[in-house]
Amino acid sequence: MAEAVEAPTGERRAEIQAALDEVRAAIRQRQTGDARLVAVSKYKPASDIVAAHAAGQRHFGENYVQELCDKAAALPGDIAWHFIGRLQSNKCRALAAIPNLWAVETIESADKARKMDAAWRAAGHARPLGVYVQVNTSGEPNKGGVEPAELEAVAREIAGACPALSLRGLMTIGSVDGSRQRPNPDFVALARLRDGLQQALGPAAGPLELSMGMSDDFEHALELGAASVRVGSRIFGAR
Ligand SMILES: *Cc1c(COP(=O)(O)O)cnc(C)c1O
Repeated sequence: MAEAVEAPTGERRAEIQAALDEVRAAIRQRQTGDARLVAVSKYKPASDIVAAHAAGQRHFGENYVQELCDKAAALPGDIAWHFIGRLQSNKCRALAAIPNLWAVETIESADKARKMDAAWRAAGHARPLGVYVQVNTSGEPNKGGVEPAELEAVAREIAGACPALSLRGLMTIGSVDGSRQRPNPDFVALARLRDGLQQALGPAAGPLELSMGMSDDFEHALELGAASVRVGSRIFGAR
């Protein structure tokens, strides 16, 4: 049985509601389409997620598999979970056991795509799992993600050899340095890569979206075409 989740205090609830309202207003001001807000709740207690859920938030992002599994088991089933942490092959099975996992945003090789596909199939879900290919747009050696030159091959592997996965788009984190520049070169690079990939794969691949932008730069990411922004500390406070 899942542990009961402590109810948030009235004060915390109001705080999270107010922060969410602000972020939503900022999104509304800048979006051209229907941008999705993914509330990044890593390290934050499940009661914070309850507060955001009560305020209407449904998409949440987590970085650590065990933390995500624990929270998913204890929290409402209508939450759409995004895994946004480094994907390890030996954790695909644990992720696939989460019935309301909505997307894995950090596919960074054809091998990991195949492993996630096999795990999702083995778990017997009736719907495909959404995935994003994470791209290392900043070329930093320690950053996750495929190199831009490998992107098309990985995307083709997902589209052609991973029937349980549905390619939703591309994701980047980008460098700290890049996040101080306008335009942010990582966001510009991801948008260009998406355009090229969309052309290469054709309309059958469906529209490919951009997951980019965090607390400090999601407004800017929206101006550059982000369809999904991942915002943590602006909603839940510093970690
Ligand atoms: C932690 C994290 C975020 C959210 O960062 P904030 O600066 O707190 O908004 C977004 N994306 C990824 C991949 C993260 O690890």
